[in-house]
Amino acid sequence: QVVKIIRKSETAGSNTSAQPGIMDKRVGVLGGGQLGAMLVEAANQLRIPVNVLDVGHSSAKQVSSIGTHVEGSFKDREAIKRLAAISDVVTVEIEHVDTEILEEISGTVDVQPSWKTIRTIQDKYAQKQHLHEFGVATAKSVALETASIEKLKKASNILGLPLMLKSRREAYDGRGNYPVKTNEDFKHALKALGGNKSLYAEKWANFRMELAVMVVKTKDGVLSFPTTETVHENSICKLTYTPARGVSEAMNGKAQDLARKAVACFDGKGVFGVEMFLLEDDTLLVNEIAPRPHNSGHYTIEACRVSQYEAHLSAILDLPLRQEDLELREPAVMLNILGGEAKDSHLQIAEAALKDRWLKVHLYGKGQARKGRKMGHITVCAPTISEAERRIQPLIDLVDKGTP
Ligand code: ADP
Ligand code: MG
Repeated sequence: QVVKIIRKSETAGSNTSAQPGIMDKRVGVLGGGQLGAMLVEAANQLRIPVNVLDVGHSSAKQVSSIGTHVEGSFKDREAIKRLAAISDVVTVEIEHVDTEILEEISGTVDVQPSWKTIRTIQDKYAQKQHLHEFGVATAKSVALETASIEKLKKASNILGLPLMLKSRREAYDGRGNYPVKTNEDFKHALKALGGNKSLYAEKWANFRMELAVMVVKTKDGVLSFPTTETVHENSICKLTYTPARGVSEAMNGKAQDLARKAVACFDGKGVFGVEMFLLEDDTLLVNEIAPRPHNSGHYTIEACRVSQYEAHLSAILDLPLRQEDLELREPAVMLNILGGEAKDSHLQIAEAALKDRWLKVHLYGKGQARKGRKMGHITVCAPTISEAERRIQPLIDLVDKGTP
């Protein structure tokens, strides 16, 4: 027997021809990875239907049978139209989407955040220029007209060496970055990032640490989660510590202000991940912004009153949300579980983590691992950050050792 979920608009006495109420709105998500999955998990609790567009039985589709999923690529125009036709609000869990089609569907369906925001942000160089126009400090950047040694040399004359060569588009988890230390690296850097791609060079940031703030843009204004410290290894996020360790109240305030200011200059509603560099001389720069929930905000699921996923839904559906709802309840450390040498390394780490049930294990159901791919994460909350660090240390050791 099939159990049909009764939506509010279908209950006796309600006017079914009226606009959908807040609790009736169907959310469409472009992308079905782990960020989409955790968004669906938050929506499930309220039985908000989320329709996921992605290929196959992706992470997000696995955790919901409430929504009507769409088969296809989140880059496919026709598939996006099919998703729009069955959704009231369309959002993204990845910014590498076709914004032409988002612009087109925004005439008939609410797209959040705005397609303009996604269009600007998905080109890292355009994003930097946009932030610069609004007076938000970022690392100095030079676009390469062509991906040639000559142009790279020109950029290095302006920025100095080392510099970070970056792909303007489609970059994630460090794929799309190449540190250029000397002139000898020019050739390799261009080759590694794919000869004909659009590239730009960024001044090297001598950072003391990296910080991130999840900012929520609602219909009423800008709210922010606590400042978190992120630790990257080979350009991939490895750990987050919340609150950020050894950061003064004053510096924390500056990071909060910068993150809010950076997000305020973009249109639309939703959660944004703001990555920042805290330089040796205490200068703060925005590294990059994600127009969606973000790895550095996973900790909010266990550590805050409202998670970044609940906050994203709240923002795009206009559900009530206040600054105090985003407060930290307990310090937290988050460790990413990446694919290792063996196909099941990630499962071995997850299993080891279960020995201490304070460690909350999230697996993404991506099937067989590829080395360096994000397969899951572990969050531990404790009364103090050092207690949380102590509890997660055995897992960090295991990850560092490399499972057999
Ligand atoms: P991704 O989209 O892959 O996250 P990022 O631009 O955020 O790309 O770079 C990933 C990581 O690489 C950063 O978190 C930081 O550790 C390092 N990185 C990026 N840009 C620079 C820079 N200009 N100087 C020094 N390190 C950098
Ligand atoms: Mg990044």
